[in-house]
Amino acid sequence: MNARTEQQFRRRTDVLGGSTFGAMLQEFNVAARLLNLDSGIWKILTHPKRQIIVSCPIQMDNGEIEVFTGFRVQYNITLGPAKGGIRYHPDVSLDEVTALAAWMTWKCAVAHIPFGGGKGGVICDPTKMSRREIEALTRRYVAEIIDAIGPEKDVPAPDVNTNDQIMAWVMDTYSMHVGHTTTSVVTGKPIEMGGSLGRREATGRGVMIATREAAKHVGIDLKKTRIAVQGFGNVGSVSAQLLAQQGARIVAVDDWKGGVYNEKGIDIEKLLAHTGQHRTVDGFAGGDPLPGEKLFGLDVDVLIPAALENQITMENAPSIKAKIIIEGANGPTTPDAHRHLHERGVFVVPDILANSSGVTTSYFEWVQDRYGYFWTEAEVNERLERKMFEAFSEVLKTAIKFNVDMRTAAYIVAINRVATVTRMRGMYA
Ligand code: NAD
Repeated sequence: MNARTEQQFRRRTDVLGGSTFGAMLQEFNVAARLLNLDSGIWKILTHPKRQIIVSCPIQMDNGEIEVFTGFRVQYNITLGPAKGGIRYHPDVSLDEVTALAAWMTWKCAVAHIPFGGGKGGVICDPTKMSRREIEALTRRYVAEIIDAIGPEKDVPAPDVNTNDQIMAWVMDTYSMHVGHTTTSVVTGKPIEMGGSLGRREATGRGVMIATREAAKHVGIDLKKTRIAVQGFGNVGSVSAQLLAQQGARIVAVDDWKGGVYNEKGIDIEKLLAHTGQHRTVDGFAGGDPLPGEKLFGLDVDVLIPAALENQITMENAPSIKAKIIIEGANGPTTPDAHRHLHERGVFVVPDILANSSGVTTSYFEWVQDRYGYFWTEAEVNERLERKMFEAFSEVLKTAIKFNVDMRTAAYIVAINRVATVTRMRGMYA
């Protein structure tokens, strides 16, 4: 993933007096209560296992020394190595990284992959740094946390403002330190050096599968659905493309600059050609221009927020007509808006389930690297389909059993899986 806007870093923080970790706890506590979680396990699962803070001195291009603060948090490693991205941004904080590491714990557990949750970040502004400075910072950051990461310990990945090139530097730095090439220390690498086929499309593919299953549950024929997608980047564009291939009608798409509406259905292949050239959907001739705030209020069956956090709020939720919302983005719905939508009977598939195919395919990358044997794209997609279908079915079954919304159900599934293994492993003291 690449550059994001400032909103990306405000995940639900305004809700709980500025603490992102507090927001995570609020969601956790609702599910833990329903599970009757015993207080000991409750305490364990609400504390990060390890928080690392490092200082990374770098000689900048002008000859000056700058010292950057970096974090790596391993929130929980009960189910396997910590898994989670590294972000570069001026607003990175220990609170945010800890919350994101906790969310990764629950996402990996919902996806039913043998990983715990981790996250990393460095306080920096990569838009003001040269390629050499970013490489130097990456290598020093990895060197500072090297004892904590590794294929069996903690496996980073790209996140905000980091990409496959940066993952290649992470892999190289780690490999130089341990003395042999270790591709499985990081995922999201270029295909040529151990990346997985199908990774680029994975999150959108999972969103498509979640939409298909949600439509089945709600009793709508996917081929007759009218869909609006917010954001046309990696997640939004692939979701739209795959859903159109399934016969659904994508009637509206927007991005940071503008939007497009076509009642008969947008030709997504043509829109992809347009965005490939202009880097925005704005100006696309295959529909009418759609002003910013209009997308959420459209008369559609499915709404897919696939752009930023905190997009669906109490300001726009009452105008939403969709029967299904699939959270392609992380945290697109504020808690009060989510409550409102659930009360109105809107079926919301939460981020930790809807976009979990990204981390599932990272898991596939790690498996292939460890095997040293690579799958075809068809094999990756087939395994992804199975994992996503199983995850969706389990969360839906839990939602029905506990009579709760899908977000609470996803937390129940995740917490239960981690708690069960914590009990089985027992207390080491
Ligand atoms: P991206 O940068 O490729 O695309 C983001 C899109 O959102 C762009 O089209 C951008 O123009 C649009 N956008 C920005 N501001 C907007 C606004 N105000 N209104 C409408 N559109 C706007 O990012 P991505 O990788 O597609 O990620 C999107 C979301 O999905 C993020 O929340 C990310 O954390 C989440 N996510 C991504 C992955 C993945 O594999 N890429 C996995 C899990 C979750």
